[in-house]
Amino acid sequence: MPINKTKIVATLGPASGNKEMMQKLIEAGVNVFRINFSHSNHSDAEDLIKIIRDLNIENNGNTAILADLQGPKLRIGVVEEGAVLEIGDILTFSPIDEIGNAKKVFMNYSQFAKDVKVGERVLMDDGKLVTEVVETDGVEVKAKVIQGGPLKSKKGVNLPNTKVSLPCLTPKDLADLKIALKHDVEWIGLSFVRSADDVRELRNYIQESGASSRIISKIEKPEAVIEIDEIIEETDAIMVARGDLGVEVPMQGVPLIQKMIVNKCHKMARPVVIATQMMESMIESMSPTRAEVNDVANSVLDGADAVMLSGETSVGKYPLTVIEAMSKIVSHVEESGQVQTESENPPKYKSNRFITDSICYNASKIADQVGASAILTMTFSGYTGFKISSHRPKTNIIVFTANRSILNMVSLIWGVRGFYYDKMESTDSTFEEIKQIVKNKNIVSEGDLVIKIASMPLQNKGTTNMLKISEIH
Ligand code: PEP
Repeated sequence: MPINKTKIVATLGPASGNKEMMQKLIEAGVNVFRINFSHSNHSDAEDLIKIIRDLNIENNGNTAILADLQGPKLRIGVVEEGAVLEIGDILTFSPIDEIGNAKKVFMNYSQFAKDVKVGERVLMDDGKLVTEVVETDGVEVKAKVIQGGPLKSKKGVNLPNTKVSLPCLTPKDLADLKIALKHDVEWIGLSFVRSADDVRELRNYIQESGASSRIISKIEKPEAVIEIDEIIEETDAIMVARGDLGVEVPMQGVPLIQKMIVNKCHKMARPVVIATQMMESMIESMSPTRAEVNDVANSVLDGADAVMLSGETSVGKYPLTVIEAMSKIVSHVEESGQVQTESENPPKYKSNRFITDSICYNASKIADQVGASAILTMTFSGYTGFKISSHRPKTNIIVFTANRSILNMVSLIWGVRGFYYDKMESTDSTFEEIKQIVKNKNIVSEGDLVIKIASMPLQNKGTTNMLKISEIH
């Protein structure tokens, strides 16, 4: 099994959603399986969750689950076969769900005519069709075609200039969320986030349910890019959802937005996932394009926590070959030693968790300085795993916890590997035991140095306040 620092998220679907294939994908390097509620019904989702949990037990593994909610995805209705929009045509968007044509289509957003303004753009089919609003009477919207082409049924709609009044969590999302929370999945993907309030709303639902799921905010709206600092602060992780983002903002803006978000996530210790079209050609082909290899490699070099596959593994012809290829690219780039590893980001004096943050920062620095083979941390919430990883030390980051959900959750975080450990008898015996565990797993060898951090006394489960360098015997 490849042990890369940059993690791989694979979306499940008809091409991969069976136990045999999922086992192979894990062996080839998948760390997180994504269940996309845009396409999965509840019974399929529950079957997949059960398979992942079973595989974790059988393999003694920690594969995490990301349940991705569809969010307020706008769509047109069914359209007659062969409808084509020509430049200059006027297309009417109607709130009545009837079969459409090149003159009139249903739009699944009842407030559309009230929210949109003359001059704003309405894009369809991933931006292939571009129209501009010329009239709205509060019920129907007329738009002039700027870029034409075939108008196909149920295609997605993007409104890059419009303040959409729909809630971030639709009734469908709330029903899907119930299933995800019932199974306490590690990560929930929140689509079309526009503000930190959207993240808070989901957080409230999670807290009310008693689940421990964490939130990945998907950045795919211009409003989210503007409010990125507040969103990162509020969320547990970020996804650069380049598919919709590249329609909502000019596509040439996406690479720099990606780099900006990765840098901010490092500073704020939030894992960041780069998503969409990473190996797109492999949906049909056995090898990626050179440009795709570059895209994955550059995301790794920039310091992404994880790279994600969508159609490539859910509906593509070669799901296993894609994971093998992606794993090879990640390993090769990481072995070059050129991945951005040092983020000079010391904690601010007397900040919220200043003592823990200082220990994590200095553990990373000392590990690099003394060439330690691992940083070992005991964690109850996963916090120290996030923090140490954000400093991108060169060494292994090993998290010990008695909480299985945390163990799976950290599978998304750059460089972090989790091991189950539930004995907290005394500091010395605990440390001796976890040193033996990493030695037995061949992560470290006799004579290596390791850095251990913990809270003292351990039993109090308090602030991480201790750092120790020791040798493996
Ligand atoms: C995206 O738009 O890049 C994305 C990941 O969203 P989804 O696949 O859920 O539409």
